Parts: sequence; structure tokens; C-alpha cells
Amino acid sequence: MTVALGIDIGGTGIKGALVDVATGELLTDRIKKSTPEGGTPAGIAHVVLDVIDELGGIPADTAIGICFPAVVVKGTTTSAANVSKEWIGLEAERFFEEHLSRNITFINDADAAGVAEAKYGAAVGEHGLVVLTTLGTGIGSALLFNGELIPNSELGHLEMNGMDAERQAAYSAKEREELSWQAWTLRLQQYYELIEKLLTPDLFIVGGGVSKNHDDFLPLLNLRTPIVPAVLRNNAGIVGAAALAVVPRVA
Ligand code: BGC
Repeated sequence: MTVALGIDIGGTGIKGALVDVATGELLTDRIKKSTPEGGTPAGIAHVVLDVIDELGGIPADTAIGICFPAVVVKGTTTSAANVSKEWIGLEAERFFEEHLSRNITFINDADAAGVAEAKYGAAVGEHGLVVLTTLGTGIGSALLFNGELIPNSELGHLEMNGMDAERQAAYSAKEREELSWQAWTLRLQQYYELIEKLLTPDLFIVGGGVSKNHDDFLPLLNLRTPIVPAVLRNNAGIVGAAALAVVPRVA
């Protein structure tokens, strides 16, 4: 069995588990801790170490994949929407490698979720363009074309009503503004119509914690494109990061 550790860093929580990369199944409980106030590199690195400790430590040869809510270019984070601006321009992959004293694989969180759904979930065998969106603190996106990831799509920052779409349509907007499912779905309707207009996808996949409540909002949407919940729900980031940690690296 090939086992890897997946860690999913989000604007609100940091989650980790050991994953069987042949099946995408979690082999341990999912450890979840709050993202520290301010979301600074030092604060987040500390919590990542706590997550590993709580898992009881891991063997030295276990591959580690970490996914993060920012644009990631060759290991460097070049944006920071829901974490400290200190991440912008930081060689984040190297930073975590120093903190953990071992090599890691580092990728955008929504891209990791997309890889997981393509390998084990709702996008298995899907041809054409699949757009996965994670609805959480922000909106993350992964584009998959014939199963291949096109990284760093950042569709959460599309302009909608003159503002960042994620500010209006992420799950955090529903909570912050205490929107009903219906009121929130009206925003999602506008958001997904915008993506349809720009990209004409073949399938939408909805991930993030709220995907477990898909019955409350997906049936209220009226789109040309089929839209389904992520099979791996909110574990997709962990599973995708772990899966990527064991594939040979492209330079
Ligand atoms: C970030 C993305 C991230 C998404 C979900 C957005 O604010 O810009 O990189 O994937 O939040 O965490």
C-alpha cells in the first residue's frame, strides 16, 4: 500500500490525514485545527506541525503533500486572499520543507481537490472541460481538460457586480450575511452563469465543506451545465495533495 500525508491549509482550518493513494481513502481520522489569526507563515507552519504531532508523527519516508489557498508558481505563493500578505512572493514550498525538515509537494488547494476528483471522484473518466469550484472561506477553482489539470485558474476572483465573486458567493458570504439557502443560491446562479458564458464547461463539480449540504442548494440552480457535488466532499484537498506527493515531479 502506498501511503502519503495530505495537508489542506485553508483560510479557516488546517486539516490533515494519511491517505491510501491507490484508493484515495483516508487511513486515519482527519485532524482539523483552526487557521491561526492573521494566517501568517510562522503561525500556519506551527499549526501544520501540530497536525502532524496529533497524527502521532509519521515515518520518515512518508511523502507529504500540502495544498494552500493561493496561486502557487514553482513553489512560490504569489497571491494571498484569505491569509496574511506575507505569503506573497514567499518560497512557500521551501519554507515548509525547512520547517518539516523534509521534502514536500506544494500546490493550490482547489487544484489539489481537482486532481483528487479526477483520480478518485466525480471527474473520473470525464472528457472535455470540468470546472471544480470549492465554496468555503473563498472560492477556489480547478480546471480539468480531459482529466489534465490546468493550474491556478482563480475563478473565485472573477468580477461579479463590480466586486470579487468570492466575496459575494463563497460559503463564508452565506454565513457572514446570514443568507437563506435560496438567497445564497441566487448568487451562485449568477456566478455559475458567468463561468458558463466564459468557458462553456461540460461539468461543474462543487466542493468545500458545504458540498455535504448539496441537497439544499444544487437542485435550486438552473444551469445548462450538469452540476454535481464532489465525491470526496471536503477531503478532496487532503487526498489530492497526498496523491500528488507520490507522483514523480515535473521540473
Ligand atoms: C484563493 C485561491 C483559493 C481559494 C480557495 C481564493 O481566495 O485566491 O487560491 O484556491 O480562495 O481557498
